[in-house]
Amino acid sequence: MYDLPDLNRYVEVRPGLFRCTIIWPVAPGVAVPVSTFLVRGNTVTSGPQPAHEWLLIDSGDPTQPEKLLQAISEVLTHEKDTLRYICITHGHLDHTGAAPALLEKYPEAKAVIHAEEKPFICEGKSFRSVTTDTWTFAILKHFSHESKVKLPENRVITLRDGDKWEFDHVLKFVETHGHTPGSASFVHIPSRSIMVGDAVMNIAANPMFSKIPCISGPMAMSTCHWGNAMKAIDKILTYRGEVDTVFPAHDYNANGVPIDEVHEFHRPGTHL
Ligand SMILES: [Zn+2]
Repeated sequence: MYDLPDLNRYVEVRPGLFRCTIIWPVAPGVAVPVSTFLVRGNTVTSGPQPAHEWLLIDSGDPTQPEKLLQAISEVLTHEKDTLRYICITHGHLDHTGAAPALLEKYPEAKAVIHAEEKPFICEGKSFRSVTTDTWTFAILKHFSHESKVKLPENRVITLRDGDKWEFDHVLKFVETHGHTPGSASFVHIPSRSIMVGDAVMNIAANPMFSKIPCISGPMAMSTCHWGNAMKAIDKILTYRGEVDTVFPAHDYNANGVPIDEVHEFHRPGTHL
């Protein structure tokens, strides 16, 4: 049913940026693509096939962590390759699912999250407790699946806009809250790409009947603050001078979405 080239394996979609998409069976008859991204960081050995420090953006759904771990191990093949950071766009279960298994397998790795997201990822706080601006979330939040992930605080670093961090020459941290209180995006500076988590989606309007991708904002039933989520898309679009491609976490395109198409979808005066 799905013919993405990066199904269950990492494909280099831009120089130094790899995407793997795993299909998440959310409910009977409903399957959603979930993409994670590996970023090649610093080179740590010399020679024709040097080892690198790697960064991962998001960690997939909780039902099949072994697929993600297998895909990562097929890229990190040098004995000195290391996974240094798992950069999590937000705390929903389809973005944090394999994080505990990854922290166990890669003892040098730490998670990177927005400071406002920490209670949901480290302390078990429920997104259902968040103050919302929509009836949609107020009602439907009771039907969404909650993440059971609780990461140890000593394996997590928190960031806010403008904070320096070890790999900010490769990945720029950008606050894009709204979908959740601490949602974040990451600009891959070398390839002029931005990974936006759920701030923008590009799946079918009705995934039960179609695979034709359709740009949208985040899923309303799991979006804590709709007004801020719209401002987050505005903020992503302010990066048009330094970003060419938007990579949503849920995307039927093999090659991401040109940022100009996101702008066309969300240009001033349009409404969802
Ligand atoms: Zn989400």
